[in-house]
Amino acid sequence: MGYGRIHNFSAGPAALPEPVLEVLRDEMLNYKNSGMSIMEMSHRSKEFSKILEKTEALARKLLAIPDDYAVLFMQGGASHQFAMIPVNFLSEGKKADFVHTGYWTKKAISEAKKVGSVSLAFDGEKSGFVKLPGATEIKWTPDAAYSFLCSNNTIYGTQFKQFPTAPTPLIADMSSDYFSRPFDVKKFSLIFGGAQKNLGPSGLTLVIAKKDFVEKGTEKIPVFFQYRSHVSEGSRYNTPPTFAIYTMGLVLEWLERQGGLASMEKRNQEKAAMIYDTIERSQIYKCPLDPGSRSLMNVVFKIKPDAPDSEKIEDRFVAEAEKKGLSGLKGHRAIGGLRASIYNAFPIEGVKALCDFMREFEKKG
Ligand SMILES: *Cc1c(COP(=O)(O)O)cnc(C)c1O
Repeated sequence: MGYGRIHNFSAGPAALPEPVLEVLRDEMLNYKNSGMSIMEMSHRSKEFSKILEKTEALARKLLAIPDDYAVLFMQGGASHQFAMIPVNFLSEGKKADFVHTGYWTKKAISEAKKVGSVSLAFDGEKSGFVKLPGATEIKWTPDAAYSFLCSNNTIYGTQFKQFPTAPTPLIADMSSDYFSRPFDVKKFSLIFGGAQKNLGPSGLTLVIAKKDFVEKGTEKIPVFFQYRSHVSEGSRYNTPPTFAIYTMGLVLEWLERQGGLASMEKRNQEKAAMIYDTIERSQIYKCPLDPGSRSLMNVVFKIKPDAPDSEKIEDRFVAEAEKKGLSGLKGHRAIGGLRASIYNAFPIEGVKALCDFMREFEKKG
């Protein structure tokens, strides 16, 4: 690692592959002899059209996205999707089914409730969101307009290893594990995620939507809020976040050079296993989560959770780690504790450095 950069465990915006940042730097003032920066280029120019096409083609290839699905480059982040999904697909008297697994599904649920009614096919709140449901624990509503889950719970640190099959169109928030592993797109009618965790800078949302599902959306809402407008205009209904799309394209090229999603998954498993092992072998670190539900992207843990001074020790851990160039280890403000976010671009050396630091901190007391 060069340039005085440190190990960045931030949950998002998060670490980007260094080779991608280097390309951005080199092309900042003059993109491929065009005489201008990507940021200064019309979104309808030939150059940018090529970038958009290439980025979509790469996404399709990496995830094996079928032709009857649209790939949309949108703005507003995952939170915008929480609102946009119910206004398109839910209406008064209709029901949306939620697999409620944490902080982000709670936000999605409260937005859906503004539009129609909601049923909890699974409610993890009673057990503190420490475990994800198995297929038989989810009680789907057979006539729901759609069902909704979050693939990776960024804050609580849980992740579906296998996706359940729903009887109604399944929608997934994949903000924090998009492109971290292969999965079957055909299981879903709509998938979305903000780019800022695994795919690029903030300001860009990648949506993958089944075209016939998009057509089921109501036309009684402003055109901008309808998915079909963005599908029919090829993500250029208005000006898309061009620089962020370009950056995502570079990240996807990088992913392909790493061997694609199957290799990425293997690396992500190795990285996460190193930290979970360090936790299991220690006397002071505890992971509060069911072993079968633990995330490969966000490793959540605590230090001596039963001790009265637990929080103080954790604060000291964060401060000392920071001094060693290990940044962003504080848990989300909603639940406290510690969290190491280790998305695709986070290097294995950083994981080793964290594990060494954890052992050293425990020994020193
Ligand atoms: C970060 C995150 C969000 C919020 O994303 P924004 O782009 O800030 O709206 C939603 N869901 C999940 C799973 C996340 O990790």
